[in-house]
Amino acid sequence: MLDCKKIRKMFPIYQNYPDLVYLDSGATSLKPQCVLDKMNEYYTQYGVNIHRGVYRLSYQATEAYDQARQIVADFIHAHFNEIVFTKNVTEALNKICQMYQKKLKENDEIITCELEHHSSVLPWMKACEEKNMKLVYIPLNDEGRVTVDQFKKIITHQSKVLVITYVSNVMGYITPLKEMIQLAHQHHMIVIVDAAQAVSHLPIDVKDLDCDFLAFSGHKMLGPTGIGVLYGKKELLKTLDPIDYGGDMNEEVDLYHVDIKDIPFRFEAGTPMIAEAIGLKEAIHLLQSIGLDQIRQHELEILEYAKEKLSQIPNVTVYNKTSDIGILSFNVNGVHPHDAATFFDEANICLRAGHHCAQLITKWLHCIGTLRATFYIYNTKEDVDKMIEVVQEVVSFFHQFEVK
Ligand code: PLP
Repeated sequence: MLDCKKIRKMFPIYQNYPDLVYLDSGATSLKPQCVLDKMNEYYTQYGVNIHRGVYRLSYQATEAYDQARQIVADFIHAHFNEIVFTKNVTEALNKICQMYQKKLKENDEIITCELEHHSSVLPWMKACEEKNMKLVYIPLNDEGRVTVDQFKKIITHQSKVLVITYVSNVMGYITPLKEMIQLAHQHHMIVIVDAAQAVSHLPIDVKDLDCDFLAFSGHKMLGPTGIGVLYGKKELLKTLDPIDYGGDMNEEVDLYHVDIKDIPFRFEAGTPMIAEAIGLKEAIHLLQSIGLDQIRQHELEILEYAKEKLSQIPNVTVYNKTSDIGILSFNVNGVHPHDAATFFDEANICLRAGHHCAQLITKWLHCIGTLRATFYIYNTKEDVDKMIEVVQEVVSFFHQFEVK
């Protein structure tokens, strides 16, 4: 187990809110002081624009921003010019959909699955509508997992893109990505991975996975809000036209022609998220110093403890008994998750209630939504005990009139 007492000291919110039980890191992680300090250092000591100024402070800011890109690249085993900064994973996934769909035509098939977050599937739903392409879903197995076998069965000559989540934000299942990517490539498809829920729990090696594009947000991995990452293989990125045009993405501009910069700068028009990139760099340092393997081990231990405790309470349904990361989705039978959530809030417990922007899977589960507790580095078994107490309270309140 990680030393949570020590870890909590790094997160100022616990000093300001000592009773906080934060079980919503799947939505966004808490922010450590070191990340805030680095961002503040930029704003107070060299807070000027990058790539433009011909003076020392601007060089310093440019260097810090470039370093951030290199640290992100190293973190996922990519090259510097394969990392495009965006405002979040949603923007990254939309951008790649808008850019890549220009290569597609009527009747092409986009393969995905019902575990997706809306941000990976909705852009392609719209693209399919507009270009008369087909969205095809890989049938999930009884547990709600995506499998290589089912994927294999639905591939046709028209299949062109696989867009898939690395880890489900509702079920916590890890997708068997490597085998699926190999299969997709044998059929000349490209693969776009939504790694929003993976990046803070699993080491990611894009070269080993061999995915074509991969995206994530900084704010779920101890970094600030307002920064996301789109990774793309450089030979593919070079074939794409930018969506946004404007300052800093061009070399030479004439009256009727613009020469755009090389990758990745051509995809980052305008002043980028400088402080946020610097904050993300610091978050990666912290994640690396704690160790992703240790992080996963810690959260799985908490998860097991929570599952065991929940299993002892009648009238509770757990939807993901075999979750691969610290995500637990459950409901008190017959109680709307929003109604239950008010009880948790009263006890200073932050957990998520609803469809988690992944309505396809809650529909697959035949529920309106779930209660979702996500466990991370600062969570303890005491947090779970407090959550369990409230679950018991909700069960007693809503089931008190039941005839035994
Ligand atoms: N994809 C997954 C799997 C997610 O869990 C989330 C957020 O919860 C997103 C995408 C969207 O993230 P953001 O709001 O940072 O763009």
